[in-house]
Amino acid sequence: MKVRTRFAPSPTGYMHVGGVRTALFAWLVAKQARGQFLLRIEDTDRMRHVEKAEQHIIDSLAWLGIKPDEKPVRQSQRLNIYKRWGQKLIDSGRAYADPTTEEQLDEMRQKAKAAKKPFLYRDYRPKNSPMWDGSMPLRFKSEPKAYKWQDEVMGDLASGPEVIDDFIIIKSDGYPTYNLAHIIDDHEIGISHVIRSQEFLPSIPKFLNLYEALDIERPLLVTLPYVMGPDGKKKLSKRDGAKDILDYRREGYLQEALINFMALLGWNDGTEKEIFTLRELTEKFSLDRVQRSGAQFDEKRLLWMNGVHIRDKPLDHLYIDTLGFNDMKKPAFWPKSAFKSKYTDGYRKKVLALVRERLKFLAELPVLTSFFFTEPTPEQVNQLYKEPVDKQLKKNPPDYKKYLESVIKELQGSDFSERDIQNRLNRLLDTLGTRPAILFPIIRIAVTASAVSPEIFGTLAVLGKEEALKRLQKARETF
Ligand code: GLU
Repeated sequence: MKVRTRFAPSPTGYMHVGGVRTALFAWLVAKQARGQFLLRIEDTDRMRHVEKAEQHIIDSLAWLGIKPDEKPVRQSQRLNIYKRWGQKLIDSGRAYADPTTEEQLDEMRQKAKAAKKPFLYRDYRPKNSPMWDGSMPLRFKSEPKAYKWQDEVMGDLASGPEVIDDFIIIKSDGYPTYNLAHIIDDHEIGISHVIRSQEFLPSIPKFLNLYEALDIERPLLVTLPYVMGPDGKKKLSKRDGAKDILDYRREGYLQEALINFMALLGWNDGTEKEIFTLRELTEKFSLDRVQRSGAQFDEKRLLWMNGVHIRDKPLDHLYIDTLGFNDMKKPAFWPKSAFKSKYTDGYRKKVLALVRERLKFLAELPVLTSFFFTEPTPEQVNQLYKEPVDKQLKKNPPDYKKYLESVIKELQGSDFSERDIQNRLNRLLDTLGTRPAILFPIIRIAVTASAVSPEIFGTLAVLGKEEALKRLQKARETF
């Protein structure tokens, strides 16, 4: 079978993890089978249409590398095609123009209620419907029956005739409804697997009825379980704080982490493995390991995965991620001072190599690195000596001046490789008869004006001999 999958979002607002996960699964199914993945913009609901939403969809997929293999299809440009199929249904007696007014519809509902029967439109079909001239909705004439079908994720499913009713397929504004349009498009575009969210599951019997009426062979049906909100009770929604997917990019989440995170929303490879590269996912993903129950959205897990991917990514590639995105006019994640002319890419990369151990998302970079690019002021340094955050320093204030002098003397002879700095400072601990918990915070305050920093030997080495000694000297002079 030629595998062709699609992602068919409606441009009604920003996309969040729930929607993009559907795109990812459809993309993985296609890539795995060396098939194609397509994007279809389902812009037939003019009331809910949001101008910028389409570009947002395209940007989000592009960022994540979920690349469509053909030009996107836009339903609003295919209205004549739906009309043609609508006419075909009229000709075969399976659709009719619907003259019912809102008031009449209300009346029908009241009647059904009085008779204590569920309201089904087909019980009130107009006897003689007018010619369809496009000014009235076109309604599908259903043939209620029971169905049994197989869903590639949900398994064997069945429904009774009561769930099948007449429904609108083309509205009076000339736009088709989802019910008709997706079936025609999937057919004409040669889709092999319809991969979509659970919210469409109750509608499948009526789609099956429509496939028959249109004489279209149905593709494989694949229903993905909901991505549930953090409380696990409702599906994830914007109302419960589901973020714009591009916000993750703005905050410095890596594409790799998002992909990894979304892949595990409802799928696993049967082991405890949690970290996957894109290549591993393309090899291992399979629909028969997609779970049937809702998947739990846990942002803390994403944060953790992001840290792992930040550490795993080749440094040069990670560095490119830190430089912002021209297309979004997002400036680099670095502090502004990092781009003074004296700092090179090489220097920034060294800083990145050092801090990435503790980096959870790239927007943390300014806080973690600003001292590499801006010298601490004597006031900041002195303040931290006077009121140390560090418990050890607080308990027994050491002779700062003496310690700083010894450090300066010792490091003057160093070649400033990380290893030499380490050897020398360890030796100094013996000479001074003190402990790392005393000596190292003293150095850290002098060079970073902060109580926390990456490990001290690396920090000194990256700062370089001249700068590090200058800062130590200035710290000493505050006494
Ligand atoms: N336009 C539908 C939505 O945005 C797509 C459903 C489908 O994938 O067929 O939810």
